[in-house]
Amino acid sequence: MGVPHLGCTCSVCTSTDPRNRRMRTSAVLAVDDQTLLIDTGPDFRTQALANGITHIDAVLLTHSHYDHVAGMDDLRPLTRYGDTMPIYGSPATLRDVRQRFSYAFEDASDGSTRPALELLPVTRRFAIGPTWIVPFDVEHGTWTITGYRFGNLAYATDASGLSVESRRTLQGLDVLVLDALRFRPHPTHFSLAEALAVIEELRPRRTFLVHMNHDIDHASVSAFLPPGVALAYDGLCIEV
Ligand SMILES: [Zn+2]
Ligand SMILES: [Zn+2]
Ligand SMILES: [Zn+2]
Repeated sequence: MGVPHLGCTCSVCTSTDPRNRRMRTSAVLAVDDQTLLIDTGPDFRTQALANGITHIDAVLLTHSHYDHVAGMDDLRPLTRYGDTMPIYGSPATLRDVRQRFSYAFEDASDGSTRPALELLPVTRRFAIGPTWIVPFDVEHGTWTITGYRFGNLAYATDASGLSVESRRTLQGLDVLVLDALRFRPHPTHFSLAEALAVIEELRPRRTFLVHMNHDIDHASVSAFLPPGVALAYDGLCIEV
């Protein structure tokens, strides 16, 4: 939902700490001279403007929930030179995208502009230019969605479980980006305690928690996180 939650006047939603203002979860990777975008949520345009993102080579989608794909149409100006934007995701995610943004795949002979999306389903290790990427399954309630490993960095948002095979894929990480929604358990997201248990098992060198809701006050929760674990915040930039 982003923080502040609409209509909420709790202490986090009314906090003056900029780290308590959270747009929908997304990330950009600058790797091998390429700019890769993970998810195009409803805040994508604002996020791109705020962070000086002027070029994207490809998009990787984790799943088709609104908060991860709603900004897809805003890719349009980034494909203005007649190129198509490569969109990677699981076959199920891309099926949903094709349905949700059906006009983008219709005949453009009426002269109207539309985002030129090239849907590229992935189920196993693949390359974008020189960059190798390993997709892995992430349990998101009853859905199976997609996480991605790039070298020793892995990104797993909207996670409520990780299979044995996925845990194997997540060994030896320098950086893990992991979902932690709130304190109480939730049917489709890790709670903070559940995320910390996964981190303790996988032992990445550093973990950044994402997708937090308004239960999580950045300063007070940061104070009791174990070494190597931090809450991400909008605009956070890390080098791996
Ligand atoms: Zn609130
Ligand atoms: Zn989701
Ligand atoms: Zn989400």
